[in-house]
Amino acid sequence: MEVRERKAQTPLKEKLSDHYRKRDFTPKKKDVSKLGIAFFWGMTISLFLESVFYLIPHIYSGWNMVIFILLAIFTLFLTTINWMGMFFGSTGFVDKELSKKHFPQATETPRGWKYCPTCQVDAPPRSFHCTHCNACILKRDHHCFFSDSCIGFYNQRFFILYIVYMNWSHL
Ligand SMILES: [Zn+2]
Ligand SMILES: [Zn+2]
Repeated sequence: MEVRERKAQTPLKEKLSDHYRKRDFTPKKKDVSKLGIAFFWGMTISLFLESVFYLIPHIYSGWNMVIFILLAIFTLFLTTINWMGMFFGSTGFVDKELSKKHFPQATETPRGWKYCPTCQVDAPPRSFHCTHCNACILKRDHHCFFSDSCIGFYNQRFFILYIVYMNWSHL
């Protein structure tokens, strides 16, 4: 009786540990983000062409038309600049050096900070882990669908201006 019980228990335990050993915990980069970039540029360029070659010439004439076309070019330019600021700019990844820089004597996670098991670093308050970027982001706001980058401490200014100019250009 005892022997049979032991035999029945062992395979289950092995199965479980095997399952977790084989399981891939690394976050996968999702392709939907590239769709977001394509969607953003497709919409922006088509709206720009539509307004410059169709809407503005039909509504305005003379100098008004010229002014509105220049405004459209200007807002497209500003939107592009700020999009690039988000896309190429520094997001604010949390690394191992950050906690050492602020707490050189600390041997454990500093008070108020939290340990991220995925990155294996101590992350400061208001930073969150992003599964798309596979990193902890300082003051993470969200992962932007249109630029495939995290909006955090360093590039939030670009994001705000980008929203402002994009709305303005769509007027
Ligand atoms: Zn993390
Ligand atoms: Zn992200």
